[in-house]
Amino acid sequence: MSDAEALRVLARAARLLVAGEREAGIVDLPIPNAPRPPEAETRTGGTPSSAGSAARDAGPARSDRTSPAPLERATTTAASAAPAAPSGFVPRVRPLVLPANALAAFGDLPARVAACVACRLCEGRTQTVFGEGTAPARLVFCGEGPGFEEDRSGRPFVGRAGELLTDMIEKGMKLRREDVFILNAVKCRPPDNRTPAPDEIEACRPFLLEQLAALRPDVIVALGNPACRALLGQEGIMKLRGRVFPSPLPGVAARIVPTYHPAYLLRNPEGKRDAWTDLKLVMSLLSGD
Ligand code: SF4
Repeated sequence: MSDAEALRVLARAARLLVAGEREAGIVDLPIPNAPRPPEAETRTGGTPSSAGSAARDAGPARSDRTSPAPLERATTTAASAAPAAPSGFVPRVRPLVLPANALAAFGDLPARVAACVACRLCEGRTQTVFGEGTAPARLVFCGEGPGFEEDRSGRPFVGRAGELLTDMIEKGMKLRREDVFILNAVKCRPPDNRTPAPDEIEACRPFLLEQLAALRPDVIVALGNPACRALLGQEGIMKLRGRVFPSPLPGVAARIVPTYHPAYLLRNPEGKRDAWTDLKLVMSLLSGD
């Protein structure tokens, strides 16, 4: 066979191979050693203060804790509804150890959230961030919305603010992150990490209500103003924090305790004393005092 004939045979074989792969749905090639994304910002922006806690080693849930009675209502626990994080991104908060059927308490809600296009926030999201933790749960923490790291990982509170929230739960309250449920008022990241607008909070509120109805918490900690708006219909964290509100939410009988958002505490560490007072109030409510 001449060189020209050999080239024609090779070219035909290559065309057949490409056509076969397209038919099989293979339309792109993996890129090894993709560059890491830039270091993310804390959800509400700004320069975090030295109050930020040290990076936590990833690893299994602690087994050596001495904690109050478990907060779980039932034997099932709920995991993050999120798919695996894109390669090259490592959340600052360790993964939770939760069973595969962890979302059972929510029925088809995670799928409905993932498919939602009810407000403009769907346009810029990588993925929705449903929430993670125990379900049902006696204690729920509600933030405002996913930031960069949450949008990338699909998990709530995994950046610097998430580290601090985890410390508040684990070092302060002597619970595990797995013992509570953590979610946000909106499930999609607002562009440039801005605060979610009132109409966006309102659009996402039916999902929040469904989540809380399934979780049946005794206490909900509202982290910052957008969470207060979603849960209490009012803002003004300075005057709302440290007080106990009966839930105005239909189908949710919990008490609501507003406190500062961890991102605020990173920028204003002097607020930590008040936040700790609020968490002690939460613990007293849970213990029935
Ligand atoms: S923020 Fe909520 S309402 Fe808006 S698109 Fe996302 S899931 Fe839907």
